[in-house]
Amino acid sequence: MTTDHHSLFIGGTWTEPQSDSRITVYSASTEAVIGSVPEAGKADIDAAVTAARRAFDEAGGWAEWEPARRADVLDRLADEYDNRAEDIFRAVSQQNGMPIAIARQLEVLPSVLFRYYAGLVRKQPLEEVRDGMLSKTVTVRRSPVGVVAAIVPWNVPQTLTATKLAPALAAGCTIVIKPSPETVLDAYLLAEAAQAAGVPPGVVSIVPGGRDIGAYLVSHPGVDKVAFTGSTTGGRAVAKACAELLRPVSLELGGKSAAIILDDADLDLSTVGQSLFASTLANNGQVCFLGTRILAPRNRYNEVVDTFADLITSAPVGDSLDESTLIGPMASKNQRDRVSGYIDVGTAQGARVVVGGAGTPPGLDQGWFVKPTLFADVDNTATIAREEIFGPVLTVIAHDGDANAIRIANDSDYGLGGTVWSSDPERAMAVAGAVQTGTIGLNGYAPDPVGPFGGVKSSGIGREFGPEGLAAYQQLKSIYQFS
Ligand code: NAD
Repeated sequence: MTTDHHSLFIGGTWTEPQSDSRITVYSASTEAVIGSVPEAGKADIDAAVTAARRAFDEAGGWAEWEPARRADVLDRLADEYDNRAEDIFRAVSQQNGMPIAIARQLEVLPSVLFRYYAGLVRKQPLEEVRDGMLSKTVTVRRSPVGVVAAIVPWNVPQTLTATKLAPALAAGCTIVIKPSPETVLDAYLLAEAAQAAGVPPGVVSIVPGGRDIGAYLVSHPGVDKVAFTGSTTGGRAVAKACAELLRPVSLELGGKSAAIILDDADLDLSTVGQSLFASTLANNGQVCFLGTRILAPRNRYNEVVDTFADLITSAPVGDSLDESTLIGPMASKNQRDRVSGYIDVGTAQGARVVVGGAGTPPGLDQGWFVKPTLFADVDNTATIAREEIFGPVLTVIAHDGDANAIRIANDSDYGLGGTVWSSDPERAMAVAGAVQTGTIGLNGYAPDPVGPFGGVKSSGIGREFGPEGLAAYQQLKSIYQFS
């Protein structure tokens, strides 16, 4: 049975699409067709932006509601998301290959974020009055930035939608969301949740489509701010369009983070196995912050290689809906070919294949599987150490102590995540402080909603999560009072 949708969620209403074009959705594990949805055309984007514009500009409308009233809607949206959570986890898992057990950890975050931002705006004063230096007082007033265009990738589609939707709604913005064509069925479940939660007309639209329609939305004259998560290449194109329009944009892009193992690290898989896996291999390697460059102290190099070899070989590979699977297929044929290409390049450039390598795992010829692969004896200048692979492929690079490890970690175009593994918290903190990155974990990693998340260098501009994530959807006005 396939799930086929025939309407688009525009301005909170199920609307007849204005083009005949459709997106076919596949199971990453079986390559079978599992559904289809309309592909939004330019006229549909126009309708979504017009609805968002009207809802934002309307006197007494969403943007002018008391924050607590918007927060109530967000709380209801959280409940409605939770009501559909298991269906959403399954839809995501089928489409992008995320193991169902991992989906229950990664895609549970949207309702957490809806409630978190509801709580933040209930507490946040919209005005702050400061004693002036040249005027009597300066009133600093926060207001919503306007109509938001949110462009979302396929790897953790719901959470990466919610990192934009939750603060945007809390701030009083209206939003047009463009999911990736690979993951659209879950987007329909989110639309149903928004409708059931009573999000007012015009405030949320969800318009599935590819890059071209994304580019059209980004440059649309009715949009005030763009929030993009995706590849660095895509981010550069979006940044260029926004530069020309002087349109605020936040960019959450790619990564090639370092997992820095110090010589006093606990590598016992019975204690740190789960944390090591979550921070290097989660979601089949298709997570932007994973520490895929393992920096190993030279005097424990072989032990580190053996540890990661055990970690990989003990992770069951298979159909993403199988409860025991820890590594599923790649999200698409393109993505499978890309990751396989990097495995070939690594091998051709002389890295030692410890586990995995070319080809597909035994018995998994159907579905977009690659062999989870561990490369050893890799130099940080190798292609597989420099470019984001976005698959279950790890490289182990030797280091000669903390300072050298920091130097190698920082010798990268990217700076998004990273980890430090050590039994000495002060030493780990000192190393973490010296790494050029937006986020880093000590003996584990998980982007915590209370802390700003984002990248430096080619990993992006701006921050999501935390109060900083809300500030990205607010603008400030200073009112100088003289008498
Ligand atoms: P992608 O850049 O190909 O596509 C991401 C989204 O942007 C899709 O919806 C796509 O249709 C759209 N898009 C692409 N080019 C566009 C353009 N010029 N104008 C408007 N829209 C455009 O990325 P992907 O392959 O879908 O996702 C994987 C990438 O996302 C990886 O590089 C990964 O590291 C990155 N990512 C980053 C974060 C983060 O928070 N930093 C999180 C997840 C994924």
